[in-house]
Amino acid sequence: MSEGVRVSFPAPEPSRDSGGAPLAASGHRLRAIDTLLADRGQLFQALFLAAPIAKALVDLDGHVLVANTMLCALTGRTAEELAGRHVDLLAHPDDAPISDIAPFQPPDAPQLDPYLLLDGERRLRRSDGRELWVVQSHEVVHHSNGSPMFVVLSLVDVTDRRRAEEDLVRRAFTDPLTGLPNRRALTDRLRHAVALSRRRGLQVGLVHLNVDRFKAVNEALGHEAGDLLLSQVADRLRWSTRVEDTAVRLGADEFLVVAEDVEDLDGLRALAHRLLGVLDEPFVVNDREITLSASVGLTLGNDMTPDDLLRQAQSALTRAKADGTRGRIEVHEGVLSGSEMDALQLETDLKHALDNDELRLFYQPIVHLADETLLGYEALIRWQHPTRGLLPPGAFLAAAENNRLTSKLGEWVLRQACHDAATWPDDLRVHVNISARHLAEEGFSELVAAALAESGLPPERLELEITESTALFAAEATLHSVAVVTDQGVTLALDDFGTGYSAITALHRLPIHTVKIDRSFVADVVTEPSTAALVHGLLQLGRGMGLQVIAEGIEDLDQAEWLREHGCAMAQGYAFGRPAPLPGPAELLLEQLAAESGADVPGHPDTACTEETPADEHP
Ligand code: C2E
Ligand code: MG
Ligand code: MG
Repeated sequence: MSEGVRVSFPAPEPSRDSGGAPLAASGHRLRAIDTLLADRGQLFQALFLAAPIAKALVDLDGHVLVANTMLCALTGRTAEELAGRHVDLLAHPDDAPISDIAPFQPPDAPQLDPYLLLDGERRLRRSDGRELWVVQSHEVVHHSNGSPMFVVLSLVDVTDRRRAEEDLVRRAFTDPLTGLPNRRALTDRLRHAVALSRRRGLQVGLVHLNVDRFKAVNEALGHEAGDLLLSQVADRLRWSTRVEDTAVRLGADEFLVVAEDVEDLDGLRALAHRLLGVLDEPFVVNDREITLSASVGLTLGNDMTPDDLLRQAQSALTRAKADGTRGRIEVHEGVLSGSEMDALQLETDLKHALDNDELRLFYQPIVHLADETLLGYEALIRWQHPTRGLLPPGAFLAAAENNRLTSKLGEWVLRQACHDAATWPDDLRVHVNISARHLAEEGFSELVAAALAESGLPPERLELEITESTALFAAEATLHSVAVVTDQGVTLALDDFGTGYSAITALHRLPIHTVKIDRSFVADVVTEPSTAALVHGLLQLGRGMGLQVIAEGIEDLDQAEWLREHGCAMAQGYAFGRPAPLPGPAELLLEQLAAESGADVPGHPDTACTEETPADEHP
């Protein structure tokens, strides 16, 4: 803030000659100043009213007392119009509120209207609405006792300089040929777009286009025609993007469209197709029709730096152009499509499923095929999802794998299944599916021992089901862990037998007790002679190796009959009961009694909770 001036004019020291006498000319000048000082009206006219700088005398509250001619010219208002008005009349309406921009006034200083303190470059608005830039300064004029009287406000017009600067900046950020923002402008816009989209829970998409074979066009038609062509390409891109998107020229024949607020990859792809579509129409340059195509790299995200996003788009574009094909769209690897986003959401939900008690075990009976006596149940996991309903394992087990939730989930299944089975009659066994990842984890054998000990289930009543690939690719440590478990008396079943690479090899690697013939074979065992031959072979193999064989997925009595005739001892399938929530002890007892009395009842109670549709037909 200015210290202010006092209106007191000290008598000037007259100039003197070398002998010390005042000079005649300077004496004349002094007299003129005296006259001027004596005539305050003239002085005011000379220094204020006719000054070549816009000035106003303003009271301490900010009301204009007098405005000079220059101020009137600058603001487009008359002196009468300005007199008595507050100086906020001149402020630009788009500027920040005065409370935000006015400097702090110490409480012991004379309090002035905050508009008077805005020293420096500021924006004003003329009466015709045009913008105006000035450098403002202020001087406080004091009474002789030192108290402030009024303020002289001076405004120097710097609009032209400001425009020139803005123009320079604009040019630095604009591609001169096409008028599109250039690479320099991009980073800033991109950073802004990323921040905004993240706040809205959406993403920023990049469509990186490269005009195919532009060099050849340029060479054939000449550079001038090439330039014309590029500006037409730019125009089409500009007009076919949404207002919130920005088309940028990155280099010779490279363009980039920044799309804000993209929901998913499908939306971004649609934009890319639309852009390629508008470039499909032939261009006309110097009366010649030219057909172009472009290659495209896509990426999207909201959690990385603009540079990383640009690099991703560039690498996708490089792949799109890799083998010389034209008009190809490539997406940066790692970008998620709509369904993948669903999977992500699923993973997040799954983390809470365990804590929120949303997991269920359904049990499907395993029966003796000769007389349909119940031998045990296979535990099959279900997820009672809060919004999607009951989900089968196929809908979420993969998500659990990604999330490293497999072992947590597996642990829950194992403990729950042992706990449930311990309440069943002593001759019923429980089968539990074990994922390869869980099996390979350290502490697996200890977990099995703990689940058995806690539930009181004898180890002989537990069978672990693993798949062929699990058995095939198991590391030595896993094999050791499995040996510890089977030494306790727990048995191993090879699930989905026959579907993997090398079922026989798998049989040799692990102490397998049971093989479960996959239901894809059982499905057409009656109708398809080659399948029949295969299943026949599998049954012989099992018998030859002294293994138990369970046929899975038996849906009708013909299949059951065929399998029984070919020596399959055990079975599981809808024909004998669908997976269902745990049968209570009373139901089990009834079932046993019915079976012993020879009554024709399935091995599993046909409860109301039994799955209505095959498990794999769930949404
Ligand atoms: P799986 O172990 O081969 O289980 C048999 C699957 O076949 C079950 O599907 C069952 O509902 C279905 N099924 C049984 N009988 C029939 C039939 O007659 N017709 C037809 N069409 N299907 C039948 P689900 O319950 O969807 O389980 C699918 C797979 O998910 C299981 O195949 C198993 O590999 C895995 N799984 C299930 N529960 C668990 C678990 O707790 N842990 C692990 N790691 N995997 C599990
Ligand atoms: Mg199984
Ligand atoms: Mg199976």
